[in-house]
Amino acid sequence: MEGEQILGQLNDPQKEAVTSGKQPILVVAGAGSGKTRVLVHKIAWLIGVESVSPHSILAVTFTNKAANEMNNRIKGMLNVDTRGMWVGTFHGLAHRFLRLHWKEAGLQQNFQILDSDDQHRQIKRLIKSMSLDEVYYPPKEIQWYINTQKDQGVRANQSKIDPSRKDFTEIYKAYENVCEQSGLVDFGELLLRCFETLENKKEILDHYQSRFRHILVDEFQDTNEIQYQWIKLLSGNEASTFVVGDDDQSIYKWRGANSANMARFQRDYQGSRLIKLEQNYRSTKTILDAANAVIENNDDRMEKKLWTEAEDGPLIKLHGNYDEYEESRNIIETVLARSKKIALDDIAILYRSNAQSRVIEEALLQHSIPYRVYGGFRFFDRAEVKDVLAYLRIVVNNNDNIAFERAANMPPKGIGAKTMGDMREFSKKENISMFAAASQMIQHSLLSSRAQKSVMEYLHQIKNIEESIKDQDLSKQFEKCIELSGLIGYLKKKKTEKSETKMDNISELINAAYGYRPLLEEEEVTPLESFLSHAALESTDNQASEFQECVQLMTMHSAKGLEFNMVFIAGMEDGLFPHQRSQLDPGGLQEERRLCYVAITRSMEKLYISYAGQRMLHGQTNYSQPSRFLMEIPEALIDDTSNNGVAASRPYLKPQVKQKNKSGMRLGQRVSHSKFGEGVVLAIEGDGDNARAQINFEYEGIKWLVLGYAKLKLM
Ligand code: ATP
Ligand code: MG
Repeated sequence: MEGEQILGQLNDPQKEAVTSGKQPILVVAGAGSGKTRVLVHKIAWLIGVESVSPHSILAVTFTNKAANEMNNRIKGMLNVDTRGMWVGTFHGLAHRFLRLHWKEAGLQQNFQILDSDDQHRQIKRLIKSMSLDEVYYPPKEIQWYINTQKDQGVRANQSKIDPSRKDFTEIYKAYENVCEQSGLVDFGELLLRCFETLENKKEILDHYQSRFRHILVDEFQDTNEIQYQWIKLLSGNEASTFVVGDDDQSIYKWRGANSANMARFQRDYQGSRLIKLEQNYRSTKTILDAANAVIENNDDRMEKKLWTEAEDGPLIKLHGNYDEYEESRNIIETVLARSKKIALDDIAILYRSNAQSRVIEEALLQHSIPYRVYGGFRFFDRAEVKDVLAYLRIVVNNNDNIAFERAANMPPKGIGAKTMGDMREFSKKENISMFAAASQMIQHSLLSSRAQKSVMEYLHQIKNIEESIKDQDLSKQFEKCIELSGLIGYLKKKKTEKSETKMDNISELINAAYGYRPLLEEEEVTPLESFLSHAALESTDNQASEFQECVQLMTMHSAKGLEFNMVFIAGMEDGLFPHQRSQLDPGGLQEERRLCYVAITRSMEKLYISYAGQRMLHGQTNYSQPSRFLMEIPEALIDDTSNNGVAASRPYLKPQVKQKNKSGMRLGQRVSHSKFGEGVVLAIEGDGDNARAQINFEYEGIKWLVLGYAKLKLM
């Protein structure tokens, strides 16, 4: 019965994949063809029909959200306990492993995760302490270099390291030492350390190889070197390996991902079988045709077909805007005017770069539409939230220097830069943590009397927090810590609007702690430790919070694998998307095109694409042309709803150029004005009395005029 239920909702090639035996399977298929669904049903099949123990299953998903969904769907299908199964992201799984095997991995028991922001700060500090010049050693570049090495599985002291970058290697080495000493583990380290432990400790590898008999990986096209190696090592000779992917959706090359891993899989795993899925179940025909038309412009694609039985559905709505504010207003209006059948959760607003979200967020706030931003500057990235977490981190792990320095300054305690520098020096010289350095310097009276007092108070404060949160439940621990940190009192005194929001965010943290359920079932960590790791992983991951029904805002990158009824793609402009940087190398442009394919295929039915003629980017006004990708979408699939003026200034996009607006004015029309003289109409916006026109006057130059007032004469 269960078997029928599992197979009932699948087409033939999907069934073939789900019921395949032990041989390695690679499923290659376009967007929305049911790859993730096949993976989930495969797990259900293994447990429900083949009576495989959940303990022997390891499944890698792209986000934590996907991991949770997968768990729920399998539970829903089988009505069995799936505990014991390892499902999560590469990072999440490696983290779990390291918590269990910290000793064998050579880590401190209470190691903390260093998110990319903290990592950047750490590297900056390191460069300074090595007396290097940031101009020649930009911290961002060093950070990128270190992460790339780790993603490739390369250590600073290994012979395979690139000899031409000796100076970078030195910094990498120093960075490894600092992390080691402070008990800090960055994202790349999670995987590399896990891999090395498995490779070096035969008994652990044996254990996991004989435990995980079924290894499944979603979004395989975006695995990097160390991830590939990790899977290969774990699968050994015995496990059956099942991976699914789409080379057209490989969008993390810039982070070391390599879609050639799909072809490599076929070579490395003997007797592997390739299964292709060709029917798309997600989108209307219009959306699919648009996506296929765009991606066809790329070379070197794996051969694939993708078709649908679905209806044409509505045309794609394209809207040109004057600037990003108008763009946001138009998006919000469309959201408000939607059919009541569409829930807010079913709406996604996608953009290329994180900075674009602010203006959209403001417009949403203005209309009191609840929304959530995935990825980017999320809740756990906010300064005040990190301030609170710093206190808890230093309590949990006295060696955490980053947390030590952060909490020392917030709220300000009279510990100046000089004192901090002295303590840093001392800790380096003595090879001890900053916390230990501070205590020793006090003991030996090595600080000025004022500094002595402030530092002593700070150390007492930390101990005090430690005492008062002992044996409390998690939300109480947060409450106590927030109270004793003095952060709220400090913000209250500041009384700005921002400090209100900050206080709200801090209280929200107590709520988050209250609702928190550790992902790790085994008892290897305390709830507080688990929460702190969760916060660090969450800060760059895309896990949704389950509190409220709301519009989803995210970058196109974070949207991978998801689907929504109504999708907005904002900022479709050359320079923004495709991104300026990508235009420098040919591979870059193709990667951007794949990203465009990902974005379009997130939509099930309604797709809105917009661009702006000008927008502020990094403090500068940029004027831009609509994205070249728009031109790759067949015109017949697009309904251009732009105001005449804007659209007409992009004649290649629209047939509406010759249309007149109500004032009888059209682009290129010659007009005369009583004061400015004669000129030519460049653009027209809006309707009725509010309509405005942009006119290039022969002597006065370009001006915007409101038609209701300007009394222009047509010539
Ligand atoms: P992506 O490439 O975007 O990750 P995918 O290939 O993983 O997409 P899924 O997310 O698994 O595709 O499936 C897309 C949608 O199609 C989902 O809503 C899924 O439930 C539905 N679907 C998949 N297969 C079938 C089927 N045989 N019958 C009905 N619906 C299906
Ligand atoms: Mg998928």
